Amino acid sequence: MTITLKVSENTKQEMQEFFEEYKREKTPPYAIFQADDADCVVTLYESGKAVFQGMSADISAQLWIEREKHLNPTKKLDVKNSEQTAKEEKKEVFIDPKIYHASSIGSDEVGTGDYFGPIVVTSAYVAKENIPWLEELGVKDSKKLTDDKIEELVPKIIKKIPYKSVILTNKEYNERYGDDMNMNKLKAILHNKVLLELTDEISPVDYVIVDEFAKPYTYFRYLQGASRVYRHITFLTKGEDKSLAVAAASLISRYIFLKEFEKLSQKLDLFLPKGASTAVDEMGIQIVQKYGPEKLKEIAKYNFKNTEKILSQSKKK
Ligand code: MG
Repeated sequence: MTITLKVSENTKQEMQEFFEEYKREKTPPYAIFQADDADCVVTLYESGKAVFQGMSADISAQLWIEREKHLNPTKKLDVKNSEQTAKEEKKEVFIDPKIYHASSIGSDEVGTGDYFGPIVVTSAYVAKENIPWLEELGVKDSKKLTDDKIEELVPKIIKKIPYKSVILTNKEYNERYGDDMNMNKLKAILHNKVLLELTDEISPVDYVIVDEFAKPYTYFRYLQGASRVYRHITFLTKGEDKSLAVAAASLISRYIFLKEFEKLSQKLDLFLPKGASTAVDEMGIQIVQKYGPEKLKEIAKYNFKNTEKILSQSKKK
């Protein structure tokens, strides 16, 4: 699998810092570095083109896609996946008016690329009567909204829009993560939970849409052990562009994430950075010095590469 992502200068900077210790000795022409990341080779070119190749290319690329989106919210994201056919790419930009204008439940998650802060998954119900109102608020361009704008909008949205959210703290994340549990399986379990809760209260609806993070068969395979599975799902990539219910769910998730993040910062009396950059590593070192290494198991996603860096650098200091 090969994924190509165009990154901006700030993301480029973060990537260089992040992969510093994983760089290969040899660098291809016009590349800044080539590095190993699990089962993936990452090459960053001077032009800002980042190429992820190998079995875990999608996982490795996802983190930087999230960073690029977060650092440059107004820029159009430029990602190419070699496995996607031209036909699929065409489908990606197509907004189906039938789905867009329907009464739908949408679900989306945040926090999966952040070392600190929880994973939040939300399902939201948008009745078709509320679509013009949400459009006017600016929900349609949810990707472009800044955190400040989200903090202003979401309190208004949740007064009108029914929703269910689940917060998975990093303590819980670390306890559950293991050989039988990866990030996508956790997401599937959490999406299933909020979808069951909301569809129990609101039914029938025209569509139940999940912003696609795994192929449908993989999603349902992850849920094989679940006692109840909500099955009538329409999976859409870039779901937040195609359904305001997904867009609203994404904004509510982000809002809750921001609130939890703030609480955690206050509790630790430290200004925590988002994402998984070197700024995060530096903060991790401070946390280890202040509270001891075990603290990371409680407040950070322990399986992220950052942990290794933080622990080894803490020893040096
Ligand atoms: Mg999503």
